Amino acid sequence: MRRTERRRRRGAVLGTALVVLLAAPAAPVVTSVSGDRPPADNVILLIGDGMGDSEIAAARNYSVGASGRLAMDTLDRSGRRTTASVDEHGDPVYVTDSAAGATAWATGRRTVNGRVSKTHDTDRPLPTLLEKARRQGLATGSVTTASLADATPAALAAHVSDRSCKGPEDMAACPADTRAAGGAGSVAEQTLAARPDVLLGGGGDHFAQTVRDGPHRGRTVLEQALAEGYHVVRDRAALRAARPDRPVLGLFAADYLHVEWTGKPAAPGGTASQRCATRNPARPAGTPTLAESTSAALALLTARRDRLGFFLQVEGASIDDRAHEADPCGQIGETLAFDRAVSVARAYAARHPRTLVIVTADHGHATQILPDDARPPGRSTTLLTDEGRPMLLAYATSTEQPGGSQEHTGVPVPVSASGPLAHRVLGLRENTELFTTVSEALGLG
Ligand SMILES: [Zn+2]
Repeated sequence: MRRTERRRRRGAVLGTALVVLLAAPAAPVVTSVSGDRPPADNVILLIGDGMGDSEIAAARNYSVGASGRLAMDTLDRSGRRTTASVDEHGDPVYVTDSAAGATAWATGRRTVNGRVSKTHDTDRPLPTLLEKARRQGLATGSVTTASLADATPAALAAHVSDRSCKGPEDMAACPADTRAAGGAGSVAEQTLAARPDVLLGGGGDHFAQTVRDGPHRGRTVLEQALAEGYHVVRDRAALRAARPDRPVLGLFAADYLHVEWTGKPAAPGGTASQRCATRNPARPAGTPTLAESTSAALALLTARRDRLGFFLQVEGASIDDRAHEADPCGQIGETLAFDRAVSVARAYAARHPRTLVIVTADHGHATQILPDDARPPGRSTTLLTDEGRPMLLAYATSTEQPGGSQEHTGVPVPVSASGPLAHRVLGLRENTELFTTVSEALGLG
């Protein structure tokens, strides 16, 4: 759609909205009242997976101290979001997984744990923010440190009955979604079909799987991407050289990207006091950081001259993954890597003020900060922070044995925002309202 057509259409929608607003003075006032533009040109939605207040506090204490502030602490407005999902009957389930959590803001609807952007009862596809933004002529992108076929990025661009259906050879839990059954295929296939302009993350193994049915039968998903014009990049140098004339698919790892920091995992009875290693030798030198991928995505999206603005989601995925493993150094390193991506987004918004930046999480996690002389059950460790103080972190939501995965928690999560409509994050609201906020900010019909 051309710029003038889109403006006209948005103007008509806004005009109608303004009539309603004038008739109901108690309603919130739209930021832009010029009649021809929605409040924002761009939205950057940053998701720290499993990043509850405890996980943020652990990273804050360790790196900048108890009185310090991370980039994510200093956005203009902040509030909280509920996190509960539902069962097949629509009854509340108090602890969400990442698939239902991402579905809530991607579609504005709650669904059952494990399901990706489909209804809780009838298992039907729900339109997503990314699909709506693309239909309206905006550029779109998704950046993650997980596989691009993992639950959080999947919820933007795919609809499957179960999050495990990442590639065409992974469809056991999604019989109705297979191409043979007339479905849209795996997450990897559907993500390509949604045709975002920028996809950066891991998941090379999922895109290397062979399509079993339909017009691309016998090809891998990656071969399909190349045939459909995607520019595929595998490392930082290739990402830097990528041009915006074609969509870009960055696959920087077989599955999750290697984390930035390492250290001793928490153990039953605690560990000796430790400092985290801020360089992970297993992480290939050419792997872009989340901040670098975010920066590259913003440059590519901005340079799409044929587009009218953009919607970008950025996920710090391994905060959750490391918390499951009771690995506080990995978890804190990923939280800080995510925070540097927040800084990149805020610097972009400073240069492009019609950009709404939102930072939040899908659910809380198991981390607890305890008095340093406590003797907690479960697994624990003591970190020596940058300000020279002991910080006892405990994980006691699963068995004490290594490999006993720690659990998500049902707490509300913090949300903060800067830019147009930032005030919408104030107070305690439903996680599904993020969908409404982003839709209204971009004027999505
Ligand atoms: Zn998790």
